[in-house]
Amino acid sequence: MSTPTTPVRTSTFAMTINGRSVTSETTSPVFNPATTEVIAEVPIATPTDLDAAVDAARDAFVTWSATPLEERQALVAAIGDRLEAHAEQFLALLTAEQGKPRPMAEWEVYGSITWFREIAKQSLPEEVLEDTSERRVISRYTPLGVVGAIVPWNFPILLAVWKIAPALVAGNTIIVKPSPFTPLCDLKLVELVQDLLPPGVLSAVSGDDELGKWITAHPGIDKIAFTGSTETGKHVMRSAAETLKRVTLELGGNDPAIVLPDVDPAKVAPQVFWAAFQNNAQFCNAAKRVYIHDDVYDAVRDELVAYARTVVVGNGADPDTQLGPIQNLPQLQKVQEYFDDCAEHGYTFALGGKIDRSASGWFVPVTLVDNPPEDSRLVTEEPFGPILPLLRWSDEADVIARANDTVWGLGATVWGNDLDAVERIGRQLESGTVWLNEVHQYSPHQVFGGHKQSGLGAENSLHGLAEYTNHQTITLNKVPNAVS
Ligand code: NAD
Repeated sequence: MSTPTTPVRTSTFAMTINGRSVTSETTSPVFNPATTEVIAEVPIATPTDLDAAVDAARDAFVTWSATPLEERQALVAAIGDRLEAHAEQFLALLTAEQGKPRPMAEWEVYGSITWFREIAKQSLPEEVLEDTSERRVISRYTPLGVVGAIVPWNFPILLAVWKIAPALVAGNTIIVKPSPFTPLCDLKLVELVQDLLPPGVLSAVSGDDELGKWITAHPGIDKIAFTGSTETGKHVMRSAAETLKRVTLELGGNDPAIVLPDVDPAKVAPQVFWAAFQNNAQFCNAAKRVYIHDDVYDAVRDELVAYARTVVVGNGADPDTQLGPIQNLPQLQKVQEYFDDCAEHGYTFALGGKIDRSASGWFVPVTLVDNPPEDSRLVTEEPFGPILPLLRWSDEADVIARANDTVWGLGATVWGNDLDAVERIGRQLESGTVWLNEVHQYSPHQVFGGHKQSGLGAENSLHGLAEYTNHQTITLNKVPNAVS
């Protein structure tokens, strides 16, 4: 998307380039999705701004990559401490720009603090593969150089942190580009920690999607760490190929949830509900198709409807709110298409089904669609909003095939009391993460990534850290006459 531009206004949000605050001639508005009010203006970077950030990052790389690992780790942990000291400010700002209610904002902000601290404990030690009187062979990891981090709008802080922390620990410098819809927390975070780091080690630039394209094409950037849609991920990969940049792509998903016949419908319903609707279903790992066994289909559907009726949708700043608005207007329009498609095809709404566009914010009612066809848009695509298809199954092999019949492979869940069956089914699902009788459990030490078109590479764990490094083999022939 391209964001509209307006003449510069007084703004407390600036980019950070080479350790300094940088504004721009034109700015772009940021909205509170619960009220649709403009809450800030942010700079729109020019190609010259990006060049300056890259030059500074390349200069800083020389000393940062040579800084002892322990020192880099300590500074990354210190960024976590700094964020914790300002947590209240970030919680409020995150709710204002993203729309998520306080508990979800806490999950994201305190999760980010944990990530800084835990990733700071990670390292990739050298391995001595051979060490004799004649020869030594070492395998080690060296930093890549400058990382361009491109971030989406659903978890603007956490998904930036998943890139900043490992990039810095591994010895790279990094330039963060937030989503134009949610740039405020990322700009503030980068600004807030500048005194902890040498200039140029961590920069932030804001702008529209054009800026993302310049980053992926820039010859001075060595790696792109991208989280966003599969469609954009393909553009990123194409553009990065020109300079053979390394890429980590964390992309879209269409996670199946499989509910077995032995569940207690009243107990499973709230869990499946939150698997699907957490963060107002603007979640790469939201359960986006729920396959419920025929024996319990009606009961689970009815319990889901009953539970959903108790959930409060509203302004995230209101303490009673459990689900906020859709984050931006283009996304609301996209979600509207799924409502229209279901209505046009005459699918049955078990709950919801109509968006009130006269509402003061970009709100969408929780909507459950009762057994739409397997080839409907709602089942085969990623709506990224609170409209969920419930589907019947009766044959285990068939439901596994249907769950896997998608280009995506990000996450999946299985719910049931027969743990053998739960695990047997789970192990046959083609996705990067399979949660059994739980969901959305992440850890800095647990590898995360998509199968198929849900991504390339991984974040978190030592596998994720290794994605910010080159492999290097060093061999030494110790026999003195070898070179004389
Ligand atoms: P998006 O792809 O529209 O945008 C993501 C980022 O890419 C933004 O910063 C955007 O400005 C930038 N961008 C857009 N076009 C670009 C281009 N041509 N080149 C470079 N950068 C460009 O995604 P979104 O709407 O912000 O986020 C929602 C999507 O992200 C969903 O598909 C969701 O599943 C996915 N997602 C994936 C994960 C994961 O970890 N796998 C996590 C969160 C979200």
